[in-house]
Amino acid sequence: MSYLRKIEYKIVPDKSFSVIHNCPGCKVKTRYINTNHFRVNANGNKLDVWLIYQCEKCKHTLNLSIFERQSAGKIPQELYQKFLSNDEELANEYGRDFTFFVKNQVEVDNNNIICSFEDMKGMLVELKEMNYKTGDLISISNPYGLKLREEKLVAMVLGISRSMVKKLIGSGKVFIRQDIEKFDIEIF
Ligand SMILES: [Zn+2]
Repeated sequence: MSYLRKIEYKIVPDKSFSVIHNCPGCKVKTRYINTNHFRVNANGNKLDVWLIYQCEKCKHTLNLSIFERQSAGKIPQELYQKFLSNDEELANEYGRDFTFFVKNQVEVDNNNIICSFEDMKGMLVELKEMNYKTGDLISISNPYGLKLREEKLVAMVLGISRSMVKKLIGSGKVFIRQDIEKFDIEIF
């Protein structure tokens, strides 16, 4: 495949993922959101650290484990200070890390992940201002490993409806290649 112009983006989640979890307060599965607060518990020389999620409706909390019975000396001082000061950036890093949720065996609310696109310098891209044309290759890296439906992604990038995307794919005007880390969209 040859292309005339290569455009590269990164897709990044705007904020922490929410979690779908059974709520003892609401008695049903509800959405829990990141409070950006940590809880640190010291027991002798051992530390437990959690990130606190909260039911959107009744504020019931869900503690997601970061460290369990970790020797205090093994946690870097700088990181420890961030836990104590409820560092928002750090809370958002955990909140957008799939492995963290897998480790805690909780379900990420994949249907409500809001994303933006950045160029390779990390600047926000306004997709509506792009004029794609025949011969373009749009290469989108996926550093957060977001699970995205092809058609939804292409609709977002090209600024068209999903049914239009289906038509364009069907007629061979758009070709998509997808792997874990990257989506390529070619325009013919
Ligand atoms: Zn609740």
